[in-house]
Amino acid sequence: MAPRTSKSAPASTNRTPTTAGTAAEHASPYRDHLALDQVVPAEAATPRERFEALARTLRDAIAPNWLKTRALQDSANPKRVYYLSMEFLIGRTLVNNIINMRAESLAQEALAPAPETTWRELIEQEPDAGLGNGGLGRLAACYIDSLATLHIPAMGYGLRYDYGIFRQGIENGQQVEHPDPWLAHSDPWEVVRCGESVSVPIACSFELEHGVLRAVSGGSSRLMGTPYDRPVVGYGGETVNTLRLWKASAPDEFDFREFSGGDFVGAVVDQIVAESVTRVLYPDDSTNAGQALRFVQEYFLVCCSLGDIVARFRKQNKDWQQLPEKVAIQLNDTHPAIAVAELMRLLLDEAHLSWETAWDLTVRTLAYTNHTLLPEALEKWPVRFFERVCPRHLELIYEINRRFLDDVRARYPGDEGRIERMSLVEEGHGRLIRMAHLAIVGSHSVNGVARIHSELLRTRVVSDFAEMYPDRFNNKTNGVTPRRWIQQANPELARLLNATIGDTWLTDLSQLQGLAARADDPKFQEEFRAAKRGAKERFAEWVRTTTGQEVDPTTLFDCQIKRIHEYKRQLLNVLHIVVLYSQLRDNPDLAMPRRTFFFAGKAAPAYRLAKLIIKLINDVARAVDADPRTRDRIRVVFLPNYNVTLAERLIPAADVSEQISTAGYEASGTGNMKFMMNGALTIGTRDGATIEMAEQAGEENLFLFGLTAQQVAESRGWYDPRWHYENEPETRRALDLVFGNHFSPAEPGIYEPIREALLTHGDYFMHLADLTAYAEAHRRIGEVYADPREWTRRAILNVARSGLFSSDRAIAEYAADIWSAEPCLA
Ligand SMILES: *Cc1c(COP(=O)(O)O)cnc(C)c1O
Repeated sequence: MAPRTSKSAPASTNRTPTTAGTAAEHASPYRDHLALDQVVPAEAATPRERFEALARTLRDAIAPNWLKTRALQDSANPKRVYYLSMEFLIGRTLVNNIINMRAESLAQEALAPAPETTWRELIEQEPDAGLGNGGLGRLAACYIDSLATLHIPAMGYGLRYDYGIFRQGIENGQQVEHPDPWLAHSDPWEVVRCGESVSVPIACSFELEHGVLRAVSGGSSRLMGTPYDRPVVGYGGETVNTLRLWKASAPDEFDFREFSGGDFVGAVVDQIVAESVTRVLYPDDSTNAGQALRFVQEYFLVCCSLGDIVARFRKQNKDWQQLPEKVAIQLNDTHPAIAVAELMRLLLDEAHLSWETAWDLTVRTLAYTNHTLLPEALEKWPVRFFERVCPRHLELIYEINRRFLDDVRARYPGDEGRIERMSLVEEGHGRLIRMAHLAIVGSHSVNGVARIHSELLRTRVVSDFAEMYPDRFNNKTNGVTPRRWIQQANPELARLLNATIGDTWLTDLSQLQGLAARADDPKFQEEFRAAKRGAKERFAEWVRTTTGQEVDPTTLFDCQIKRIHEYKRQLLNVLHIVVLYSQLRDNPDLAMPRRTFFFAGKAAPAYRLAKLIIKLINDVARAVDADPRTRDRIRVVFLPNYNVTLAERLIPAADVSEQISTAGYEASGTGNMKFMMNGALTIGTRDGATIEMAEQAGEENLFLFGLTAQQVAESRGWYDPRWHYENEPETRRALDLVFGNHFSPAEPGIYEPIREALLTHGDYFMHLADLTAYAEAHRRIGEVYADPREWTRRAILNVARSGLFSSDRAIAEYAADIWSAEPCLA
């Protein structure tokens, strides 16, 4: 079947207004949705109502292909891929579906003959689906887009949180968290499938105590998981896969009555308690808060999803031996790692297979992606949580561990240290289950997300496991979808690409290399610069209208947008700005291009130091603005509430991408890739995928600086941040300004925790070690930016060589190396 053309009409809704004379001459599916769903005349509809009607009109066009995809996959019985993730950071869906359906003109025609609104205005009515924290959740969203685009039979499984990642406000320079009720209006994309609900046994019951869910021992209970399906439209619209998000509730009415033993009010309270399981996303990125409710969420996701997967498998296959040939389950980090025990339980207790057979099938079905080297992110759950919630799973984990440690002993006799290091159980005050060990032992594939990360995983973090199972370990460098991150975010650049190399880059990003030959072409350079200028002007206009702040689009746009974390080193960035501030005050003639430094990012609500860094950025921004010697030379802008939509707005406008993590700590990064494809030049450390970006683009086309991962590790023993304070005048001047309350005259001492982290507690993330090299890299940026032809040449080469970082490439590698999954096409 040929991909839909933009001219193809939406599938008929088969609905006719029943009232005679209802705008018969203007009948259209869009107007029908307004009249029949919202019950408003088109003229009186609010923008939100128009958005919903347009979204439903588009869904009408998607639904037939969604059905067709399901029918095709049901009849072909192919191997299916299941992507289990606690997070899907989807962002907006309408605009993405219009692009992937290639339905721009359909959308515009749907609104005719009342084109007082354009679809580009209506997309602003949609809230972001913020069901994730950052890179891990956004990766899951890019991957399901690529799976559908590559026609791989696949399904994403996650949770339908009532509240996604909090909305960040900034008050007095400080982060304040507001709830994100993204489902306040009904969501036009989701389809609830009550008939496919599943039941999850829990060995305890729960009560709400001051709004916090508490497990009560004894009295087993059950949770019901109800699937809410969202279409995942591949590019061209032919394959429409499903993202299935589970909502928790109490068992249905029949069991509900039986359960509550006639206590009607108590039963209703039980319902409220049960629903609180999927109430809210935990807002921690790269840390494990260790909360019991989070544990229940992970268990709930796994039980619902595996129950569903196994039921689908059984419908089409009679022989359990076929499981690994028909099912591949990818665990996005350890969050769903209890799947190892749940799949064993299903195969042992429900299918009555032998342990050996069940274990063989489990390992061949599961695969695990590791996302971080930070020790505080590694999940370890108290044994007592398992005892309370799922004692059978604990029993199985103990048996898995017993057999596993027998294998270790057989291979390394007498090596008790190794046994202790590798055990799934950490002994101590309160035993813990090491979820990463469980995931590794129970999977046939363990991958990191960039070459250096996979290497460090193998050699440092879990080297005992890599030694024991060398064939399991592999690398899959992350990628991002060019549909959202170029076509949708940067239509002007997309048009230029189409005019220059045709539009095949959308599904084969390696085609961008065709631009390299034009890198020095003055005419193409001018067109490229015009696209960047347009994006900067549009962004400046958006900032002006939404925040009232003036930003000058003729300045260099320098951007660091990502979660706020010490290892990502927003603090290094702001310290360098303080260095510049201090230099400009001493020497207003200092030669350097005018710069606007943009920051955006959320801090975990309990992460005190990260929140203090936000405060410092805002305080420095104010001081820079207040001083006539600095305010026309540099500006600092903290954009509140970083989310996918803000990333889509800012990245096309960026000149410089800040990727300055302490080397060895950023697993991959994906923000770095989005910037590269949109023609920003990277200033960065040799960390994560930035290393591979430099390899593709040529090191000379990035601004790399600072310690390598190896140097960071080797200097751990002797690094002394005070040496830099005492021997580097610019470092000292900057720190003295910050800690001498220059930026916080009304709040003296407020930055004391930062002083302690940097100068008393050894500057773990080595800000001061890299500050001088970072400033030098920024000087080089200033020089090159002063030469627009050279700058543009490098920017074009970066775009031309960014093809590797498409999520299509990443997913093709997962499909070939880990899943053995193939496209399923009519
Ligand atoms: C891409 C993206 C991220 C990941 O950014 P990194 O710079 O790789 O940490 C986080 N949040 C949002 C909203 C994104 O779009």
